[in-house]
Amino acid sequence: MEKRGLSLAEIQEVPKESVILLAGPPGAGKSTFCHQMVLNGIAAERPVIFVTTEQSPSGVTSLLRERGMGEPVILSFVDAFAKTVGAEAPEQPDTVDANCEDLNSISMAIARLQQRIGKRDILLAFDSLTSPYLFNKEEVFRFMRLCLLKFASEGNSVLALMDEGCGKEEDLGAMMSVADGIIRMEIKEKSRIINVVKHPKIAPTKIETPMTWSPTIALKTFEPRVMRRIWEARSFTQRVGEALRTEVGDFVNMFWMNLALYGGMLWDPKRVPAMTYEFQKELHLRSIEMMSSAPWRMRLMMKLFMPKSFSKVKDMKKFASYLLKSAEGMGMAIWEYAKEASRKDEHYFRAHESSLGWAFDNVGARLGFHGLGAIAGMLEGFEKEERYWSVVETKCIGMGAPHCEFKAVPHETDELKNFLEAIDSSVVEKIHQRLMDQLTGFLIHGKPLAERPRLGSGVAFNQMFLVTSLPALVSERYRMALRMGGAKVGKEVGEQLMTAGIAGDEVIRRVIDFMECCKVGKISLGETIRIEENCESFGLETGQSSCFFTTGFLNGLFSTVKNQHVREVKCIAAGDPYCEWEVK
Ligand SMILES: [Zn+2]
Repeated sequence: MEKRGLSLAEIQEVPKESVILLAGPPGAGKSTFCHQMVLNGIAAERPVIFVTTEQSPSGVTSLLRERGMGEPVILSFVDAFAKTVGAEAPEQPDTVDANCEDLNSISMAIARLQQRIGKRDILLAFDSLTSPYLFNKEEVFRFMRLCLLKFASEGNSVLALMDEGCGKEEDLGAMMSVADGIIRMEIKEKSRIINVVKHPKIAPTKIETPMTWSPTIALKTFEPRVMRRIWEARSFTQRVGEALRTEVGDFVNMFWMNLALYGGMLWDPKRVPAMTYEFQKELHLRSIEMMSSAPWRMRLMMKLFMPKSFSKVKDMKKFASYLLKSAEGMGMAIWEYAKEASRKDEHYFRAHESSLGWAFDNVGARLGFHGLGAIAGMLEGFEKEERYWSVVETKCIGMGAPHCEFKAVPHETDELKNFLEAIDSSVVEKIHQRLMDQLTGFLIHGKPLAERPRLGSGVAFNQMFLVTSLPALVSERYRMALRMGGAKVGKEVGEQLMTAGIAGDEVIRRVIDFMECCKVGKISLGETIRIEENCESFGLETGQSSCFFTTGFLNGLFSTVKNQHVREVKCIAAGDPYCEWEVK
């Protein structure tokens, strides 16, 4: 298919007076491709405006330097990241701020830089349209026409990136119809495919390049007390004083966890389940390794409870009796081993009142991916023989079943891959909508949040950081998704309360009350916002601010309601006694 003589370099040229849309699923390598196009532009001495929505301008600059950027003639930034998510943004002469929530602010920032540069042939790189789209939906088409197409028609060129699989397919189609050129990228097996679908200068073509990719998990430390309690899960407690979180108890409302998890998933619906599964598996494998050098009590427990192999039903039952109690103790679900349905090397479990699927019945997908990677990791870690375990959800309340069911088998299986890729953006949208309805019901009409008959609403705080701060430490993409998800939820809450006629400070008061009611932490609101025992970071020692969702959420809320920005200046995970946000 490859047209002879056509090189990557030709594709990486953005022709004058045109808008090229670079589309592909998250992780296909669009940003790297875009950086190369910017470097080519700089080499041709073109002025560059870089609109960044997923990381800071300094992050982009250092990536460009790593890839050999010389001295650019002009490289200016529109920083639409920091203000959106509440990240730090040092004042820089070549950078203009904007906010993804407000497309006007982006148009104005581009116009200002264009005027400042004062000449034509500017290359505008927009990485990416995903966040502006997820915040503003259909308005983004108008923005593309009135801002990007107009900018290109004035003797410049535009390269805009967009994630596939976020939002509606027809919306991506509409964006593509606006663009002069479309390049799609995808990953197949071990190669990257660049597909020029339409282009003002190049005939349609496909190029395949090999790629190497190895995910590395750099696991940071937990506070030892927390680690111990996770392994002795029954000792999590609601009772203030006896709990690790002495002020608010160890349990957080599952609503808050789901708000974070599914908020972030709007940005990456396809990959979050697999990321979560793999991450939890790795985490448990590592902690079992750690335990084998742990104090005698821990080793003794492992000896007493752990059979050499989990092939037989009776041995799996032993493991399950330990494991299942711990899951219940953490409020994840009521799990039971389905002994009668299981046989050698094929084990079934039932889960009732799953924290991940409760209140999301019948959304059209299996939702129980959180926790299954952990089980797979434990089975692999505890077995003497080295075997690969797959744990797949087979029935789910998300699909209308009365309870959830999952299956563990000691080999790789396509079922696992299919399960982890089954959730798409329409499902996440549905869940997000249900969460927002519950939330406004609570905040406006005083309706209680969902409760489970036996487990109530609480999950242990470690469940929160398992789906938020920990994977965010490993994956930069996940971190961005959590921040943006938080910002979107915070913005929507603020807007809905204001639409209902509730005014500024009252909105803030109600939302803070709601967070306290969810037992997010102990919150004080003054000149700053302070949260003691914040569930997103309590028990973590990461050496950096790690409350990505909380920060995005507060920033989205305050910027919508009070036109103020929020930034985390202290964090428990960084060693501070509490988390604290400045409000400006
Ligand atoms: Zn924090």
